[in-house]
Amino acid sequence: MSRETAALSSSTVDDISQGIDIVDISDNGSISVAAVRDMNTSKREDTISEKKCTSCDQKLDNVKTNDVEIDNSSGGVKSDMLLKEEVNSGDVDVPICANCGKEGATNMCNKCKQVKYCNAACKKKHKSKHKAECEELIRRAAELQKEELKRAAELYDKELFKQPPTLGDCPKCNKRLPTLGSGRKYKACCGKVICNGCIYAVQKINKIVGICPFCKTQATESYEKYIEQLMKRVKMNDAEAIYVLGVHYAQGKKDWKKALELWELTLHLGHAYSTIGNSYSKGNGVEKDKKKAEHYYRVGAMKGCAHARHNLGVMESNAGNMDRATKHYMIAIKGGYHDSLEEIKKLFMLGYATKDEYTKALQAYQKYLDEIKTSQRDEAAAFDVRYKYIK
Ligand SMILES: [Zn+2]
Ligand SMILES: [Zn+2]
Ligand SMILES: [Zn+2]
Ligand SMILES: [Zn+2]
Repeated sequence: MSRETAALSSSTVDDISQGIDIVDISDNGSISVAAVRDMNTSKREDTISEKKCTSCDQKLDNVKTNDVEIDNSSGGVKSDMLLKEEVNSGDVDVPICANCGKEGATNMCNKCKQVKYCNAACKKKHKSKHKAECEELIRRAAELQKEELKRAAELYDKELFKQPPTLGDCPKCNKRLPTLGSGRKYKACCGKVICNGCIYAVQKINKIVGICPFCKTQATESYEKYIEQLMKRVKMNDAEAIYVLGVHYAQGKKDWKKALELWELTLHLGHAYSTIGNSYSKGNGVEKDKKKAEHYYRVGAMKGCAHARHNLGVMESNAGNMDRATKHYMIAIKGGYHDSLEEIKKLFMLGYATKDEYTKALQAYQKYLDEIKTSQRDEAAAFDVRYKYIK
């Protein structure tokens, strides 16, 4: 392949550090495993097998035989079948032997799997008569299945490339929350995600660090107390709290297994999918599995995680699907993901994205900036890099 493709292939999927939004976790505390086990939450079963991710698994129900019009031209059998259908008002499927017409046929043609016989003897007798029909049935079933798969993939793509919801607004200042993790923080006291600007403002007024702008609770100094506070929210089934606890297990205790278990409980959060996707991508606590990683990124992206969306763009780009990559990046840019803008720029310079697409990408990112920029947030970012909200 060309030099350009090689250059693009060097793009790597963003790792977990960007998906996690908390800072400075020291590993000096202990989290009660029993308490976590106690959680009032029900474990979700394996989501991979549960979900109908048609593009990932391409798994569909078998093509229904009654969708196939059977041209049964073997003499009297057809009229017998029609008669039976009328008697049974067509609702009940009475299996009839294709050879002798008797009811209760159970021995299926093992090639087309659509014609039944009473027994092996009937099957054998009918073999030469059925041959052409059998081939036609197989051909039609394959054609139908192909069409169904194509339609399912199209429908899935329609959902996949929809612009998902944003992170929402800061509950204190009512301005759109920044996508960059350092621009917002989850508060275990009240369970709110609050912007850097509001956190800094309350700190400046009170001249003390750690007061929650929303519920005015003073943040606890000790790690143990913090975890206690977090566990209260965990027991209330607060998905963000469960997610953050998972992060503590992963980063602090290096217990990826436990972390993954917790993240699996928070699957309506887009970033939880993204973080699990990262684990499969890097082999953290699980066996490396690109397909599973992609599956989680897809669901996360559809739930609004711009980070997961960006990674899908990278995966498509590395696979040479530049159109799909561009589509993903555009959605991620609207979601406030700066790296996607860089990728679009790269695609434009290499001739894969049009000038129009690049212009639209720039405009979309500017629109995002206009929505998140406030003087309060700027002041916070200038005061401390940990409050940075624009990349
Ligand atoms: Zn028979
Ligand atoms: Zn057959
Ligand atoms: Zn705010
Ligand atoms: Zn609070």
